[in-house]
Amino acid sequence: MSEVKACPPAVGGPIDLRSLGPRALFEEIVEHLGEKPFRARQVASWLHKRCAVSFDEMTDLSLDLRQKLAAHYRLDTLDVNSVLRSADGSLKLVLGTVDGHLIEVVYIPEWRVRDDGKDPLKRPPDRSTLCVSTQVGCAMGCAFCRTATMGLVRNLTVGEMVDQVYRACAWLGTEAGRPISNLVFMGMGEPLANYENLKGALNLLLSPEGLNFSHRHVTVSTCGLVPVLERLGKETAVKVAISLTGTTDAVRDELMPINRRWPLSELLNACRRLPLKRGRRITFEYVLLADRTDSLEDADRLAKLLSGLPAKVNLISYNESPGLAFRSPTDERIEAFRERLAEKNLTVVVRRSRGRDIGAACGQLASKE
Ligand code: SF4
Repeated sequence: MSEVKACPPAVGGPIDLRSLGPRALFEEIVEHLGEKPFRARQVASWLHKRCAVSFDEMTDLSLDLRQKLAAHYRLDTLDVNSVLRSADGSLKLVLGTVDGHLIEVVYIPEWRVRDDGKDPLKRPPDRSTLCVSTQVGCAMGCAFCRTATMGLVRNLTVGEMVDQVYRACAWLGTEAGRPISNLVFMGMGEPLANYENLKGALNLLLSPEGLNFSHRHVTVSTCGLVPVLERLGKETAVKVAISLTGTTDAVRDELMPINRRWPLSELLNACRRLPLKRGRRITFEYVLLADRTDSLEDADRLAKLLSGLPAKVNLISYNESPGLAFRSPTDERIEAFRERLAEKNLTVVVRRSRGRDIGAACGQLASKE
């Protein structure tokens, strides 16, 4: 039995090693603890490749070093509180933070259609996406979103963001990173309202010392925090998604209060200024709410708003949630909306809702704190 004690279970106090970037971690281990550089690389590997949950696990480090780590640092790890499995193969992991909050991360596997008569759920997915949370709750107040009903409880740390990926990988029982081909920061919270920590998490997840994701496979979504969107475009190379939902300022003011601060024209002008990589498009997420945002006039206005932008539109049929008064549109209305956009030469897809039966679909995330 190891003699190393568990890390103190609290946010605050000593530094959480998992929240440090590669350089800061190196400085702590080499300059602060006086260890050799290769020890720093070993610790980084345990933290971000082997996804350790405690210093005890780091068995190729000497007991002395493990004790030093435990004495000087924390290693905050999310606790898998419950796992809900959808009939469509999606999983929702409810994760507990060390200070007792619950957050949700959703794993969405996808299979190409094959005519082999076999149940797709019985073979490994062709690709898979993990939808990561960035805050406990959210302050943005979007009227159609369950997370908004929680208000903002607190920002997640860098370590808590990356650990969602690690816990999902561990739950899926495979080597870290392997089963997840795409990351989308579209879970609980507004990512750009927690920008510095988001950047720290991206830095780790995209670095060779971490899971080495390609920026082509990482998307950050925003409801429209214009100045931070501009920073995201300049300071990172990840893909951008804009949650639009509303084609006039009057409607968007009501549905997405951020619009009162940065109206549609400012948001779309910021999109036009984004320095996009060659061939890259901005995804516009558009939630279809019956009789609110799903008319053909809306489709016409949307096409006009996006004219000249390298845009791709994801149409999302609203997922009804208890306590929210909106309704899902009919399939006919969705198809008519899609057709109208396609006629205007927009790239448009209807995003099939995944995990609706486990409250894991778009706009449904809200943990019972
Ligand atoms: S849609 Fe996104 S930004 Fe809006 S309240 Fe929900 S989590 Fe926050």
